Amino acid sequence: MNMPQKRTTIVVIGRPNVGKSTLFNRLLGKRRALVHDKPGVTRDRLEEKGDWWVRGHRFPVLLVDTGGLGGDSFIEEISDQVNTALSEADVALVLFDAQSGLIPHDRDVVRQLNESGLPRKVAVIGVVNKVDAEVHENLISDFFSLGLDPVLTVSAEHGRGMDDLKHAIAEASGFLAELSEERAQQEPREESSEGISEQDSPDGEGPEPETPIVPRVAILGRPNVGKSTLVNALLGRERMITSPIAGTTTDSVDSEVTMGGKPYLLIDTAGIRRKSKTEKGVEVLSVVQTKKALERSHVAILLLDGEEGVSDQDEKIGGMIEESGRSVILAINKWDTQRKNQEFTPKIAASLVRQKMGYLNYAPILFVSAKERRGFDDFGDLINEILHQRKLKIPTHEFTEWVRKESTVHNPMNAKFFLCHQTGRNPPTFVCHVNDPEKVHFSLKRHFINALRERWGYMGTPIRLLFIEGKNRKSLPGSGVKRAAKARKKKPTR
Ligand code: GDP
Ligand code: GDP
Repeated sequence: MNMPQKRTTIVVIGRPNVGKSTLFNRLLGKRRALVHDKPGVTRDRLEEKGDWWVRGHRFPVLLVDTGGLGGDSFIEEISDQVNTALSEADVALVLFDAQSGLIPHDRDVVRQLNESGLPRKVAVIGVVNKVDAEVHENLISDFFSLGLDPVLTVSAEHGRGMDDLKHAIAEASGFLAELSEERAQQEPREESSEGISEQDSPDGEGPEPETPIVPRVAILGRPNVGKSTLVNALLGRERMITSPIAGTTTDSVDSEVTMGGKPYLLIDTAGIRRKSKTEKGVEVLSVVQTKKALERSHVAILLLDGEEGVSDQDEKIGGMIEESGRSVILAINKWDTQRKNQEFTPKIAASLVRQKMGYLNYAPILFVSAKERRGFDDFGDLINEILHQRKLKIPTHEFTEWVRKESTVHNPMNAKFFLCHQTGRNPPTFVCHVNDPEKVHFSLKRHFINALRERWGYMGTPIRLLFIEGKNRKSLPGSGVKRAAKARKKKPTR
């Protein structure tokens, strides 16, 4: 296929120690050979080619790390970086450090950037690094005052937010626009596992995969709920020995299945019983195994027992899924035993599950019988739709305006909202600037999340909505990136 093949040159700019080389290595899927702990250690300028996968297409990039070029002073160094970006970059990443906060040197960097006229010629993306966990999202409010748009949060060290960053680069460079132009001229075609890459896992270590990877689906649930039976049913053959006697399944192996015509990798956690003889031991192991499976997966299917109802352990596993930020489907298994039960309709069962596991209220519920191999014909389509909705990125303008409008519908404590934007997609994370976060009544937050789902879906996926104190800004950030992307399209191809 005749896809755009020119290499997009990305230059990383930032004061010493914000994590430029860590990000550089992470974006190339490399070990951190050149990272140092001492600020200002001189190293050679680095330039390396890489191939990313965005929307199922190869996105060829050239990464340039100019950090520590050896200028005699900070000002010289930054000026070197900016000049490199001016002469070579299609996209400039300006890196900051969330943990040190915004310091005067960062403002100097941005000042030099603006004085050079770079943002008018090259697409610029603000990247706040060292946001290692969600709790750090509240450290970033200052960085919005710099006038950069977009501003993304990442953790170069842990791989957090890498997919969003690549996507933003693809967007800013015009690569996505070219893709859709190409596509418009071609026959519509199916895309496989669109937009999923290794780095979707927060701790996605290791090199960038050669091809878009197959979505990974974790089959979770407490012992005896029917995980092995379900995996066998999905595989259409016996892979593991299942038996009513606890302790008969062996260690788990990932298996490839085709559902709804598309490939998936099943990660199952059956087979942990063998390793422990005691009840307590089984539970501990089950927690560890569940955690490991979640880390490696994109979507979880949590099996519940239609015969026995929701137990404490189910609630615990459900809580772990919510915490992990993975998308989830609830499957009530052994439904064959209830089919004739007039008292226990799917509606009653679903409302019981919702009652006990309200925190997973966004998860679709399916009724299945692993034993009779019924009820999971739609797994494939459902997973596909969930992953599709999960990828959504809401533009800052649209989201801010939407928040303001919704806050007139319900807002008991009269909170005032300023800039609001999506900082990540794994899971979808939104940060809203508000005059006083204490004024965001819990019912208002709930209203936002419900309305957000009504408007944008995000079926099966947790949404993080954070409120931080911010000031009013006269205007919303303009579409600087798009302007720059347009400008660069006119530049000669490298
Ligand atoms: P550079 O001078 O901008 O190239 O920064 P380096 O990549 O050398 O990183 C400076 C320090 O920050 C090193 O000690 C890194 O381990 C650390 N670092 C980089 N990225 C992260 C991150 O995402 N989280 C945390 N906590 N530390 C990071
Ligand atoms: P695991 O520990 O979660 O892997 O559970 P297994 O797959 O080993 O199943 C435990 C027991 O539940 C076995 O006796 C299965 O035959 C039974 N079982 C699994 N799925 C179903 C189902 O859909 N209906 C019924 N009635 N029994 C089931």
